[in-house]
Order: sequence, then C-alpha cells, then structure tokens
Amino acid sequence: MAQLILNPGRERSVMRRHPWVFAGSVATLSGRARPGDTVEVVSDRGVVLGRAAFSPESQIRARMWTFDADTPIDHAFFKRRIAASVARRNAHPMLAGQDGVRLIHGESDGLPGVIADRYRDTMVLQLTSAGADRWRDAIVAGLLQATGCANIYERSDSEVRGLEGLGPVVGVLAGQAPDPDLAIEEHGVLLGVDAVAGHKTGFYLDQRENRRLTRDLAKGRSVLNCFCYTGGFSLQALAGGASEVLSIDSSGHALASARRNLERNPQLDASRATWLEADVFEALRKLRTEGRRFDLIILDPPKFAPSAAHAKRASRAYKDINLLGFRLLNPGGILMSYSCSGGIGQELFQSIIANAACDAERDAQIIHRLSAAPDHPIGLAFPEGEYLKGLVSHAA
Ligand code: SAH
Repeated sequence: MAQLILNPGRERSVMRRHPWVFAGSVATLSGRARPGDTVEVVSDRGVVLGRAAFSPESQIRARMWTFDADTPIDHAFFKRRIAASVARRNAHPMLAGQDGVRLIHGESDGLPGVIADRYRDTMVLQLTSAGADRWRDAIVAGLLQATGCANIYERSDSEVRGLEGLGPVVGVLAGQAPDPDLAIEEHGVLLGVDAVAGHKTGFYLDQRENRRLTRDLAKGRSVLNCFCYTGGFSLQALAGGASEVLSIDSSGHALASARRNLERNPQLDASRATWLEADVFEALRKLRTEGRRFDLIILDPPKFAPSAAHAKRASRAYKDINLLGFRLLNPGGILMSYSCSGGIGQELFQSIIANAACDAERDAQIIHRLSAAPDHPIGLAFPEGEYLKGLVSHAA
C-alpha cells in the first residue's frame, strides 16, 4: 500500500479524527496510487495514523476511511459501516417508520463521499469522492444487505464530483428504475420524490422536522412560502390549518410538481393555495408595494454561499430577502428563515437576521433554532458537516 507522508505537525488534525487531509498537509506520496486507491496516512515521524482514499486531483487529497492502522478497507469494511449507519436510523424514534430517510450522510457516518437516501422501496445513492466512486460495488452490496430494499438508483451527478476529477454517473444499480410517481408520506402528507431529475437525490429530507414545525405554527395564519420548490412547506402549512398559502418559485417545473403534490392530498383545502412563478427578490418587492402582509413567512433559498469565499455576496442576498420578509410580516408574525450555505456560519446568519430586523424597524425574538433532521448527523470531529441553519423569529 502506498503511503501519504504528512508535513511535520499536520498529523494533529488527523489525530483529532478529522476526515480530510488537505493537499497542503502532504509532504509526499511514497509508492504509487491511483484515484480512489487506499493509502496509509503517515506522520513525518513514521507513525501510521490510519487509512484513506487517495484523490490526486482534489485539494482534499485524501479522506480517512479509518483512524486505525490495521483495519483492512475491503467489502467487509463497507458492510460493517453501512450496517451500523442503517442501524442508527432504525434505532431513532423519529426516524424508524419514516418513508423517506437518509441512511448514510457521508463523513459524519464514517463514509466520506457516500450519500444514501431511502424513499419507501427505493434507495438513491450519490457518490461524491474518488474513494466512494471506487468502492461503488461494495457500497451497493452493503446497502442491499443492510436494508432488504432491492432497488438502488445512482444520482452521482453533483457538481462537486468535478473537484475530484469525476464525471456524472446516473442509472439503475440494482432492481427496478424509480417509479416516476414515487411519493413518501411525511407527517400525514404525501410528497412526490423525483429520484431521477429532482434536486439532491430527489427531495429535501433535511427539512423534515422543520416542515413539522411549520405545520404546528400555521394554524389560522396566512402563509408566504418563498423558494417553495415542490411545495413541502406549503403542504404542511395547509395541513396545519393555514388560512391561505402563497408559494413562490422561479421554476415552472418545480411548481408543476408542487401542484401535483397538492392533488395527491385531497384532504387539504386546495382553494387556500396559490402558486406564483417569479423571482423571489422581485416578488417580495411587488407584494410590498401592493400592501400585502402575512402572518408566517418561510424563506428557504438555494445555497447562496457554497464556501466561505462567497460569504460576502451571499450575506447581502440573505439580508435582502430577510429585510423584505420582516417588512411583509403582520404584527405578531413569524419569520422562518434558512440558510443551507456551508460558507455562512450560525453566528453570521444570526447577525444577518438581526440586521434585517433592525433595518425593517421590527422588534423580534428568536423562538426556535433549527438544523437538519437527525438522519443528517454532524460528526463532532467534522464541523464542516453543519450546513443547514434555521432561525424562527417572532416579530412584535
Ligand atoms: N424549500 C424547498 C427547497 C428549496 S430549494 C423544500 O423544502 O423542498 C430552492 C428553490 O429555490 C428551487 O426550487 C429553485 O427553483 C428556487 N429558486 C432559486 N432561485 C430563485 C429565485 N431567485 N427566485 C425564486 N425561486 C428561486
């Protein structure tokens, strides 16, 4: 096995069990390794720190599979890690019995570059690193065995694969292709999952608990849901007894899926729902000029800042929509605001919301701090795993 020798002092991060070895930490590669090959990670003093997947094209030069010097990285390794990850989901009372669950959440589940989501009888796999890509067969075998679910569809079409020198890979890995009408039940509402062409692996599972809170807060309120995608928050708001729900997205395709989702749920009062295809930044200004006001506003925009380098421009965009959000709130209204940008930390996000409230001349208080659902854990050794933040503010 080739050895990746670190620069002096660079063993510290690995010893703290951080899974990434950056290019700048590496002194040399001793031996030969191709992308995805397993290498030993070794300190400058010759101490073997563990085993990692080599990725010569990426700034993240290696991702640790194990911090043990002797554990073989083979089919049995993936079988054990996958079984453990699935068992954690099955053991969690909020996850057991859910139709849609993230079974493997990459680094935080000890499987860097591996994402696996289950939607009823279909699993969707996304491999984002050279090491994960290399072990596709072992991962597929491990998933089939750990779940008893027979269908796996691959959605390795995330842009981040480019950083690892990998192109997109999509298609059936096991069993049947996903049912185009695949839908999961979440808190009593049916929501379609487009495993083949939808965002991520077809659905935003990370917002599951936050959609439940929306339902709980919506009773009797007029709701504005911005960046609604396929209407997850909108439908939960209707289920919770919202008096009206206006949902905005710039994608006509997403709105068509949202309407289809509403049809899937005849128990909901469809006459209370309005869908608007528009740019949210413009639509919020227009609503303001029209004198419209709402009791509950949801802002769940796409990732404005994929990395810290984009933080400044992204901050302006978050500030803009949140300022408009506060201005459109009735007295006693609630703003549910999210950021899924890894480049915007919790503290920065809170200060953006505070500035927005201040500029809108609204006194507001945080009533909930939200994050991703428990099937999207954050490894304590891997703070980079924390991406989704939500603040729920009550405005006087
Ligand atoms: N809240 C959704 C997920 C939002 S994904 C859920 O819970 O399922 C982000 C959405 O924002 C996408 O549907 C995308 O089409 C939309 N979008 C991106 N930029 C936009 C803009 N400027 N105006 C309106 N919608 C936008």
